[in-house]
Amino acid sequence: MPLPARVITSEEHAAFLAAKRAEEARKQQVRQDRANQRQIRQQQLAAQRAASAAARPAREAAKQQREAAQQEARQAREARQASAREAQEANRDRQNPVLCALCGEGGVLLFLQCDGCSLWYHAECVDVGVVPEGAWYCGACHAAEAIMFEM
Ligand SMILES: [Zn+2]
Ligand SMILES: [Zn+2]
Repeated sequence: MPLPARVITSEEHAAFLAAKRAEEARKQQVRQDRANQRQIRQQQLAAQRAASAAARPAREAAKQQREAAQQEARQAREARQASAREAQEANRDRQNPVLCALCGEGGVLLFLQCDGCSLWYHAECVDVGVVPEGAWYCGACHAAEAIMFEM
């Protein structure tokens, strides 16, 4: 607001000064308002940061808890699968009991497993009275061995 070039009365001058002070005060008020808003924004930001920092350990704990629960669920599932597999195998064994490779029968008679062909035989069927201490080979494997020796 430029100074008037003409002669002014003291009232005009006083009014001019008052207007200038009022304008200064208004500008000061605007600056103050901006400063206040800036401060409020900074306080809000600081509060957000503090809240986020405070929530971090809780978030970490929740995450760890979630992971632990997932791990537990995974282990439980694996245990369930393993026991289901075992049950299945036991069931298969019941359905397909060991059969004698000679007579084709099962039963609870003494069985021998050939160390050559891994087939099972009734001790009776292969005419073995006592379980041999070392390796035992069935007739077929003995025959095969004999053929090999003949070659
Ligand atoms: Zn048999
Ligand atoms: Zn054999």
